[in-house]
Amino acid sequence: MVEAGDDNLDSNPLNVIDISSGNIAGDLKFGFSQQIGGSSNLWAGGLAKMDSIDLIGRREFNSKDWPVDQAELESLYKRVDHYIGINQSISDECSEWSDFDVLKHTILDPRKMVVLNTPYSTSVLVADNANIKLFKNCSATRLQLSADNTSITKIEVYDQAQKQNIFISAKVYILAAGTLTNVRILLHSLRGIRDSIPNLYNNIGRYFSTHPKGNVGIIRLDKPLASDHFLFAMRKHSTYSSRLQFGLSEKTLIQNQLLNHCLRFDSPFNHRATRIFDYIKNLLGSLPITRSGKGALVETLANLGVSVYKVIDNIGTSGRSGKTLAVRAYFDQSASLENRIKLSDRKSQSGLPLAAIDWRFNEDDWENAEKFLSIFSDQLRANDLGEFLYKRPGSGEFTAIHSHFMGGTRIGPASDDSVVDNNLNVHGIRNLYVSGPSVFPGYGYANPFYTIAALSLRLGDHINEKYKFAPNKFQ
Ligand SMILES: Cc1cc2nc3c(=O)[nH]c(=O)nc-3n(C[C@H](O)[C@H](O)[C@H](O)COP(=O)(O)OP(=O)(O)OC[C@H]3O[C@@H](n4cnc5c(N)ncnc54)[C@H](O)[C@@H]3O)c2cc1C
Repeated sequence: MVEAGDDNLDSNPLNVIDISSGNIAGDLKFGFSQQIGGSSNLWAGGLAKMDSIDLIGRREFNSKDWPVDQAELESLYKRVDHYIGINQSISDECSEWSDFDVLKHTILDPRKMVVLNTPYSTSVLVADNANIKLFKNCSATRLQLSADNTSITKIEVYDQAQKQNIFISAKVYILAAGTLTNVRILLHSLRGIRDSIPNLYNNIGRYFSTHPKGNVGIIRLDKPLASDHFLFAMRKHSTYSSRLQFGLSEKTLIQNQLLNHCLRFDSPFNHRATRIFDYIKNLLGSLPITRSGKGALVETLANLGVSVYKVIDNIGTSGRSGKTLAVRAYFDQSASLENRIKLSDRKSQSGLPLAAIDWRFNEDDWENAEKFLSIFSDQLRANDLGEFLYKRPGSGEFTAIHSHFMGGTRIGPASDDSVVDNNLNVHGIRNLYVSGPSVFPGYGYANPFYTIAALSLRLGDHINEKYKFAPNKFQ
């Protein structure tokens, strides 16, 4: 395993992104960490599943089919549960919410969201694992191709301690450096042969998204709701808490050509306090803190953010009943060629060009989101639940932080509009695989960690099967 970081947090975006040369609408704050275990050292432990509609390619939104159906994904999620310490099954029926019947005559679709008591960090998979030879503080910069350009022979790696390049050879290579750097390494490595692979090269970095989200207004309820009402209450379990979010039924989404957006309701207190969590996350995303000894401060902030978030959720559900709910939207987005990661002319210390990002939520995206919100609003009124007062978030209030980087090396059957095949193998390069959310062929609203982990296990199965490596503990 070649790892650019070490045990310390490094959330400095300037090692990865050239902020001056891209074109990002809205906020320019980023959240990730270059360290052993990656960004999961910062995450809040939120797990949400992809819905069945997320897994089908929808031509009108330029998304592609996923390589898994819901049944296969469900069994992979169960294996993920095992690793991250969820010892009771996360039921999809949401049966614990007794007053659920209220929604029987609506097209609102409840989705369960889980927040782990202790967010799992993938660094534990690496620590003390005798089967892994770890090269830390080593940045992969370039993949070297065989003479016929159909396989990788070695990778060039910048050793930060020795300040020199080294080369590492392997039978199989898996690129899992986070969405932005997966794209940087591929574009940089294949630049010399771009004319012989024009389709593939042109698709690397395209169809990028970052899960936009924002506060979109309030609901004035007809009747006050109890503070433990299922619309916004958090339920506690031994290893996690759970709550509901709401989308529209699959039939409604298809009939109305809508993307799979999702809404979360909060009591106004909870909503105000959640902003503190957002603020801390923003700070994490904007501080150019590196491993220069300030990592501990970032780590404290990260832990503080997660703790505040949990306290808020608990207080929010024990407060007085109220007649107003704040509404937060998690938006899906059309896959667009224009939303892309490119190479900047500027380089990081390792010699790998920085990422220049073009991303916007355009008027077509807004139109889709607002049609969704208007159907949702009609449903509330028709069922005497209350009135939704919509306010489109301004650019400063929208997205808050870019931390769910998806797309850029998406899955598809051929290189005309994708980068990897159903086994996550780069088209035409037999021993090169990509792992991580850069392969997502569509986005949905669900936080990505669960699905990243699920697809990674599936890739492990494929590689074990194909290369007949010895069975390991991930089986
Ligand atoms: C504050 C915050 C809160 C979040 N909360 C949630 C949440 O509640 N739920 C959820 O599902 N998701 C959440 N996320 C998102 C989630 O953490 C990420 O989507 C996920 O960790 C991304 O995984 P990845 O494998 O793509 O990349 P990463 O986890 O970033 O891993 C990339 C790895 O590659 C290494 N690397 C980078 N460049 C190189 C190179 N050149 N050579 C060698 N190694 C390299 C990095 O050091 C790192 O170890 C959150 C993210 C943040 C920042």
